[in-house]
Amino acid sequence: MHKGAIICVDDERSVLLSLRDQLNRILADSNYSIELAESAEEALELLAELNGEAIDVPLIICDHLMPDIEGVDLLKHIHQIYPDTLKILLTGLADLDDVVRAVNEANLYRYIPKPWDQADLKLTVREALRSYERDCLLEEQNRNLQREISERRQAEILLRESEARLESILNSLEDVIWSATADSLELLYLNPAAARVYGRPTSEFLASTSLWQNDVVHPEDRGRRRNFFKALLAEGHKGVEYRILHPNGEVRWLSDRARVIHDDYGNVIRIDGIIYDITDRRRAEEKLAFDALHDDLTGLPNRNFFMQRVEQSLQLSQTDSDYEFAVLFIDLDRFKLVNDSLGHACGDQFLISIAKKLSNCLRASDTVARLGGDEFTILLDGIFSIADATRIGDRILTALEKPLQLGDRSLFSSASIGIAVSAPHYNQANEVLRDADIAMYRAKSGGKGRYAIFDQDMHAETLALLQTENDLRSALEQKLFTLYYQPIVNLKTGALAGFESLVRWQHPQRGLVMPNDFISIAEDTGLIVELGEWVLRESCHQLSYWQQQHETAKDLIISVNLAGHQLKETNLADLIDEILDETGLDGRNLKLELTESILVENIDAIIGTLTYLRGRNIQLSIDDFGTGYSSLSYLHRFPVSTLKIDRAFIDMMMGDTENFEIVRTIRTLAHSLGMQVVAEGIETDEQLSMLVSLGCELGQGFYFSQPVTAYEAASMLTRTMDWQHNHTETIVVDQKEIMRQRNLLKDFTAS
Ligand code: C2E
Ligand code: MG
Ligand code: MG
Repeated sequence: MHKGAIICVDDERSVLLSLRDQLNRILADSNYSIELAESAEEALELLAELNGEAIDVPLIICDHLMPDIEGVDLLKHIHQIYPDTLKILLTGLADLDDVVRAVNEANLYRYIPKPWDQADLKLTVREALRSYERDCLLEEQNRNLQREISERRQAEILLRESEARLESILNSLEDVIWSATADSLELLYLNPAAARVYGRPTSEFLASTSLWQNDVVHPEDRGRRRNFFKALLAEGHKGVEYRILHPNGEVRWLSDRARVIHDDYGNVIRIDGIIYDITDRRRAEEKLAFDALHDDLTGLPNRNFFMQRVEQSLQLSQTDSDYEFAVLFIDLDRFKLVNDSLGHACGDQFLISIAKKLSNCLRASDTVARLGGDEFTILLDGIFSIADATRIGDRILTALEKPLQLGDRSLFSSASIGIAVSAPHYNQANEVLRDADIAMYRAKSGGKGRYAIFDQDMHAETLALLQTENDLRSALEQKLFTLYYQPIVNLKTGALAGFESLVRWQHPQRGLVMPNDFISIAEDTGLIVELGEWVLRESCHQLSYWQQQHETAKDLIISVNLAGHQLKETNLADLIDEILDETGLDGRNLKLELTESILVENIDAIIGTLTYLRGRNIQLSIDDFGTGYSSLSYLHRFPVSTLKIDRAFIDMMMGDTENFEIVRTIRTLAHSLGMQVVAEGIETDEQLSMLVSLGCELGQGFYFSQPVTAYEAASMLTRTMDWQHNHTETIVVDQKEIMRQRNLLKDFTAS
């Protein structure tokens, strides 16, 4: 029901009141309130107030004759502000001119003559309100219509915008969007990305259903894709990965995810899908899978792959008693030398060539793998007897004998091969590999460039070695080692020049164990580092103690043997500084004995340390000189002060001119490089005489003394031992020969 206020304006209060009474009665069944104003001013205020409160004023009934303003003028004024409000003028019949004016100027609705007839009032007011309400209604309907029209227009714009947006998204997508009929899979839509992904225009697909459905799919994957559509219709949504072929033959991997679309009643209307090109991901996955099982450098299978193959062979041999296999463990001899002298790039090429050679020696069913470094393994799958394995071993050794051509260099290679053949007691692949490894060590220690077949004796020896290793470990903890000291004598004066400290192991069961029986194990296991540190410290403490006790010990030199690990893997310089500090020993009283192989194999890694030690006045000596590398070209690169001629030459020097010449050459070489010579293993008078006559400075051997305990060594010091020798025999030396050797050496040192 319409709401609002009806305003009555009259200067006579009684008129107003009676008007209100009558109007209330007339409008009892409606929602209008009656407001009264006794002046124009009040009326305008009232209107403003109601307007402010958003209360509708459909009708104003105004007296014409009022003291301050005429009703017509007031209505005219109101009309300008509130044109929709209907205006009724109360007036006497004499004022009809004013009524006409009011009709024209204030759009007067009616006039009611005063005094009014109640029925007339009722009729007029009701009609006025009905007319007003009708106008309002019309207006509202009109407004609603306008709104609806504009809303619809807006929606259309939005729809068009969203379609355009969707289309631009579909056009710019990298992925293929497709839509097809559910029954015949006829394409309804394909976005432009399809052209790039499939390598052909989208129009070709829209023209031929079978092209997209089948022909572009890789023949091996067509069945999979057909099954995918079947399952898709059954399950509602599904994904599949398959390959397609580009017109140029290129293969790409796609991932297709599709969904069945239903209408509101659940009927299938079409299938929508999205296709991603996953070629890069697939290739990366394939590469990862390959890398996980292959060696980067050679592309051969790696340890994992190899162990899987051995495991398969092992299982087969357990179920099929006729099936036998063999594992070959191959370690290159002296690969380190290639790597260190020619550089890693060359070493890599070398390994790649070896990998090819090995592969060429095998059948397709065999597996050759690289375990790492210079270690390769081979699985011979299905052999008839051990002869099959040794034949391959021979073939590999022969193949390796042929020189490898690396750039302008010819390199010779050889390998040590261990062979283990399948046997019922093997439970795990790594047991077979372990035994092949043991056999390889046997081949290596047997002289390299050969193969060895694993047998149970080797196993027993390996166990014994393991036992020794464990014993060594606990011996280190319990300090079960002791040092012996062997005098080194000045051959010119016969005076004691120093001692070489030689370690012994006081084994609770085996008694005194000699270094040859445990040093190599200590080296292989790395225990040598800790043992060597103890030997160094103990030797220096001992000499420092003797120096405090015996005047004669002041200038003695203690010689300590060093293992390669100690130089490579520890900060030896720091350790020695620390030991010299704590013992107060002078660097010149310490001599370190290194073997040739340590020097040659680690030139770059240790040269810095050696130079530092030399700067601390510590002397460096090459032990067992002559037994290792016949190449002398490295000698001048090291700050070495002493060459210690190996016992073997001293031993064979007598009556063998060749060995005599070797000793003489070494002596000459040493002297020309400013080095001293020590002869080790002097046992006889003759040997001594000869060495004296050759001008060797120092000697050591059972002739003077066995290695002795610290206690015995101390008593030598109190007795101020000297080994005077009566050189009656002289060796006649051919002067021409000496000149020849000097020239040779000059050539060498100059180069
Ligand atoms: P090496 O450094 O060449 O030591 C000399 C070896 O020759 C010693 O054997 C010594 O007893 C022996 N010998 C000395 N004079 C004669 C002789 O006139 N005739 C004969 N037949 N032999 C003689 P040992 O003490 O058994 O040591 C063997 C090797 O063990 C040493 O050879 C050395 O390479 C190593 N070694 C000993 N102690 C240590 C150590 O503390 N650390 C390291 N890394 N190696 C050590
Ligand atoms: Mg030595
Ligand atoms: Mg030696």
